[in-house]
Amino acid sequence: MPQGNPQEQNISPNVSSPQGTFSSPRVTSMPVRQASFSKSFFYPKETQAQPDMATSEHLALASTPEGVQEEQDLRDLPLGSACAQVHETYIVAQSSEGIILVDQHAAHERLVYEQLKKSFFEKDVPSQALLIPEIMNMNQEDRDLLLKREGEFKALGLGIESFGEGILVRSIPILLGGSNVKELVDDLLDEIKEMDVHSSLKDKQDEICSTMACHGSIRAGKKMSLREMNALLRQMEETAFSGQCNHGRPTYIALKKTDIEKLFGRR
Ligand SMILES: [Zn+2]
Repeated sequence: MPQGNPQEQNISPNVSSPQGTFSSPRVTSMPVRQASFSKSFFYPKETQAQPDMATSEHLALASTPEGVQEEQDLRDLPLGSACAQVHETYIVAQSSEGIILVDQHAAHERLVYEQLKKSFFEKDVPSQALLIPEIMNMNQEDRDLLLKREGEFKALGLGIESFGEGILVRSIPILLGGSNVKELVDDLLDEIKEMDVHSSLKDKQDEICSTMACHGSIRAGKKMSLREMNALLRQMEETAFSGQCNHGRPTYIALKKTDIEKLFGRR
């Protein structure tokens, strides 16, 4: 590409020099700018229907049967076709508009959260019995705190009961299958310790569902197949507010082709 822009030549006189490339202020300023425009761009109203989401464990089976949709077709969808996973944390996808970078944990956590909240609201949280119930020892005070809310936890798909000095966890929401039960209950205990004794879990449902969703989600560091990644992208497209995680951070950023071209001085 011809270097017509004098400002550009100033920044990196030697194109092959890594120093020149990485010191470019235009490169370092990109992520912040992209995160803000991606949401409105990708979420037209008609795609905001609530999904019929399967369990997190079955993410790979939730959509896109293998070979049914050509890669080219996927690229025409808002979040595109998954190309690769990097650092076992981010999904790189190609759409007809550009490149999408997804934070796999943040994105999946949002999906689980929305689904959990919906089923909690509808008083129908599908629960699964643990093959081996989890025994948790704890002090009297913690135990009482948890058991006092036994019924409320049941409504959330979490079956607990008194057992010896501690409690027994018999069942967990299906959506949280595969998660570490002890860590989940410990985090919920922290959550209710901060609550007023008279307020219900329903009053704090956003926080409670958020805590639970974190445990039921694909972790950063987990290897994902292309199929799983594409399934996650499709579920994000179908889920309202999936552009933001439960803590308000973006779950993905989008780089438009034209913006990438600008980065490389092609425009
Ligand atoms: Zn989390």
